[in-house]
Amino acid sequence: MSKNPSLSFEVFPPKKEEEFDNIFEFLREAAKLHPASISCTYGAGGSRAGKTIEIASFIQKELQIDAIAHITCVGFTRADLEKNCEALQAAGVNHVLALRGDRPQHMTDEQFNSREFFFATDLVKYLKEHTSLQLSGACYPEKHFESPSLEEDLRHLKEKVDAGVTSLVTQMFFDNSCFYSFMEKVRAMDITVPVHAGIMPITTARQLGTTVSLSGSSVPKELADLIATYGDDKEDMRKAGIDYAVRQIRDLKEHGVDGIHIYSMNKLKTTKEICGLI
Ligand code: FAD
Repeated sequence: MSKNPSLSFEVFPPKKEEEFDNIFEFLREAAKLHPASISCTYGAGGSRAGKTIEIASFIQKELQIDAIAHITCVGFTRADLEKNCEALQAAGVNHVLALRGDRPQHMTDEQFNSREFFFATDLVKYLKEHTSLQLSGACYPEKHFESPSLEEDLRHLKEKVDAGVTSLVTQMFFDNSCFYSFMEKVRAMDITVPVHAGIMPITTARQLGTTVSLSGSSVPKELADLIATYGDDKEDMRKAGIDYAVRQIRDLKEHGVDGIHIYSMNKLKTTKEICGLI
């Protein structure tokens, strides 16, 4: 069942101004790996919020690669959304990943809960009605952390797709069997859009404590053991993390996955090495 899945990368706007040039260097080099698309995250309320459009515009206009700008319900009023969509389209960006977003640390529960668009589906419905943007959405092989069950999460995923999402990107996962069992359920619910498997290379032990624990993704014993063995040596850990991600991707390809989405973390060397091995 092996086929050539599409390849995509995710980048984020760097926090420090002096790191900003690096992202363009990353993107120029990453373009040589021929991804079908590159997406750029959005952090509500952060000082880098406006940078998503600038980066997405560079991807689309300079590199002529399908740029996907993330947008979130959190931090966007209807008026903000209209302005943002106009700016995206003026920048040549026609594709967004429509998300609910998480509560930023500085935001109170009251502010978070009074957002105008409540769920990603509300955002998708609005964008479908008022713009010609192509819409992608997020999904969670191990269920979204707030959802009482995978079945309920999948019901809402179906609503999101029916509202106009034409492709999905998964939360990172480290156990392919979770993804395969999720996909069986997705297809059984007649969700037929392409699903891009989110792969996060774990190249430092610290990543497990931050990114991974926030994602709610489970950590298989093999990955935990690998960190216990190599975690103290920077280069050995990086190599072991790449090897784990490569094995995950090869197995996904053998199982006929629609797409591989690499959470690049703006790391060029790691992204290149993985792409050279898959
Ligand atoms: P939704 O689809 O709205 O789902 C959120 C929860 O609500 C789920 O539990 C769902 O089951 C439930 N739900 C949905 N509809 C209903 C309903 N009608 N009634 C009751 N419950 C419902 N965050 C950022 O801030 N910026 C980013 O750039 C970013 N990029 C991401 C990229 C990817 C690929 C992924 C997987 C996540 C990303 N996130 C980002 C994180 C994301 O914003 C969070 O995971 C957020 O908590 C959920 O977003 P969502 O769009 O999946 O939400």
